[in-house]
Amino acid sequence: EDIDFTPFFHNIIDRFEMNVKDEKINFNRQIPNKSFHVWIDKDRLTQVLDNIISNAVKYSPDGGTITLKIERHIRQIVVSVRDEGIGIEYDKLDKIFDRFYRVDKARTRQLGGTGLGLAITRELVEAHYGRIWANSKEGKGTTIYFTLPLINHKRRREI
Ligand code: ATP
Ligand code: MG
Repeated sequence: EDIDFTPFFHNIIDRFEMNVKDEKINFNRQIPNKSFHVWIDKDRLTQVLDNIISNAVKYSPDGGTITLKIERHIRQIVVSVRDEGIGIEYDKLDKIFDRFYRVDKARTRQLGGTGLGLAITRELVEAHYGRIWANSKEGKGTTIYFTLPLINHKRRREI
């Protein structure tokens, strides 16, 4: 379905903002006041964002800020979710997208989860012809990025 990603993203962030009120987490939106048309399955992309944002909440300290961004590139948008949480060691960054992988079993056991969230998230992003990756500094925070191809309205008219 042809979806304007901007209001879609805002709605999902609104829901998190309502639900985690007591955890004192700030949501900083860096989202242009523009339309970004992408061809997505809304339910699947909701699952993608729920997984990424709930990790950011889960691994954030009290009073932490989560920064949610859309950046426009030529043929795609880059969506990112940055937190100020515990971070992930450099050599483990790629593994977090593997099934059942959890960075520090002792540390994360108490936080719950199966280690499937990001593996499913990667499959869903790739099914939309996007890519997903992570960047992190231990003790400083983590950023998850993913891309989605923009619908080329000009070319669609020519067909
Ligand atoms: P589930 O999502 O299935 O409930 P999970 O959150 O442990 O469980 P994933 O979402 O797949 O699993 O994440 C895999 C691992 O990557 C996590 O266990 C955690 O160690 C690490 N991780 C993911 N996101 C973050 C983050 N924002 N900050 C720090 N570590 C993270
Ligand atoms: Mg998770």
